[in-house]
Amino acid sequence: MGEVISPVDGAGIGVVPGCSVEDVDAAVSRAAAAFETWRHVAPGDRGRLLRRFAAQVDAHLEELALLEVRNAGHTIGNARWEAGNVRDVLDYYAGAPERLTGHQIPVPGGLDVTFHEPLGVVGVIVPWNFPMPIAGWGFAPALAAGNTVVLKPAELTPLTALRLAELARDAGLPDGVFTVLPGRGSVVGERFVTHPAVRKICFTGSTEVGTRIMAGCAAQVKRVTLELGGKSANIVFADADLEKAAATAPYAVFDNAGQDCCARSRILVQRQVYDRFLELLEPAVRAFRVEDPARETAEMGPLISAAHRDRVAGYVDGADVAFTGSCPDGPGFWYAPTVLLAGSPADRHWREEVFGPVVSVLPFDDEADAIRLANDTEYGLSGSIWTRDVGRAVRVARAVESGNLSVNSHSSVRYWTPFGGMKRSGLGRELGPDALHAFTDVKNVFIGTEE
Ligand code: NAD
Repeated sequence: MGEVISPVDGAGIGVVPGCSVEDVDAAVSRAAAAFETWRHVAPGDRGRLLRRFAAQVDAHLEELALLEVRNAGHTIGNARWEAGNVRDVLDYYAGAPERLTGHQIPVPGGLDVTFHEPLGVVGVIVPWNFPMPIAGWGFAPALAAGNTVVLKPAELTPLTALRLAELARDAGLPDGVFTVLPGRGSVVGERFVTHPAVRKICFTGSTEVGTRIMAGCAAQVKRVTLELGGKSANIVFADADLEKAAATAPYAVFDNAGQDCCARSRILVQRQVYDRFLELLEPAVRAFRVEDPARETAEMGPLISAAHRDRVAGYVDGADVAFTGSCPDGPGFWYAPTVLLAGSPADRHWREEVFGPVVSVLPFDDEADAIRLANDTEYGLSGSIWTRDVGRAVRVARAVESGNLSVNSHSSVRYWTPFGGMKRSGLGRELGPDALHAFTDVKNVFIGTEE
């Protein structure tokens, strides 16, 4: 922790000292004190403050986007969408405080009502692949529900989160309500987990770290939401619009240089159209524009770090490469889009999350075979199904064990629909109307009315 490096050219772009355990403890104390006030701010006023925060993000959208291009190597188009997503998620949950209603349940001898009580201090732990949106998916509903938030950005990408904290303050959020604490996972992140005043962990990152965090939370029965890894299938049936399926497949996996938990990194193609699909895929991959992410035309930038590039390359060494796209030479952590042919579902690149611009292709025989292969993974985050047969689309969508599926499309994320994983891809759901309840506990109150 310290120097922040741009993956675009390897240059240093700032120094961000990491917080110590003592820094975290002091911030959690402030957040716990702020909670006692924040939870009692009138719902309409809390909503108004969140809308002001959203307006600040909107007013600084280009600045935030350019910061992310530099810090994370995201294309400028993606980075604008990401900053806009923070604004939209804040606006969406700004409507929640007045709507956080409970039930009135008929009971004999009195009145029974439920309340959705905020939890207290919520710790949000964010990975480096989508620094802005993933931060917002945690802090916006947490704040709306009346919690205060301490947030740890990833070591490699702290800059936009730190800027968002300034914008929150400028919007008028009281001190201690939203605090960004950069630092190491093993220091700041672990202290969130062990600190008794942090009442919930909202974690996004690898399945390995998420598993440890869940075990750590168990010691205090701490609430936890986990958004973890993925190895999602893109299933192409013979009756699909093959041209469209092939033209869009690169975007479903190479967007954000494949550093996307929802990347459709396994393409399953029905055997009778397998060759034709690869013929159509090749020009689409070769045309994929990998270039300086600040350019308006860029479709993909570099990988996040030199170490990560080495890790990605390790999956391609010795594998059967069908074809690749291109990427710039010179400084920066570039890697060309790469299509691998899987010899069998046992191949390492077929089974493990590569988290880079690498996709594996495997043929299948029939619907049952496609479902079996798609589900033959410990992950279950997203996936796509390409077919013109409506009945099959519904059958397969119900059968694939994933939290987010799209038919004849690759969309995964809308801020007003639920998002999250099955199996080892996660626990709980973010976004949409129900996410708020992940930041509250239900309290039941019975009021006796008998004389
Ligand atoms: P990571 O697990 O290494 O780190 C994620 C965050 O956890 C970082 O902020 C890190 O500092 C922190 N951390 C590390 N060790 C910790 C510990 N012991 N205690 C507490 N915090 C700790 O993941 P990454 O490499 O930054 O991100 C890539 C992973 O994230 C991929 O597996 C990807 O699929 C996953 N991801 C999932 C989603 C989703 O919504 N399901 C979204 C984006 C990324």
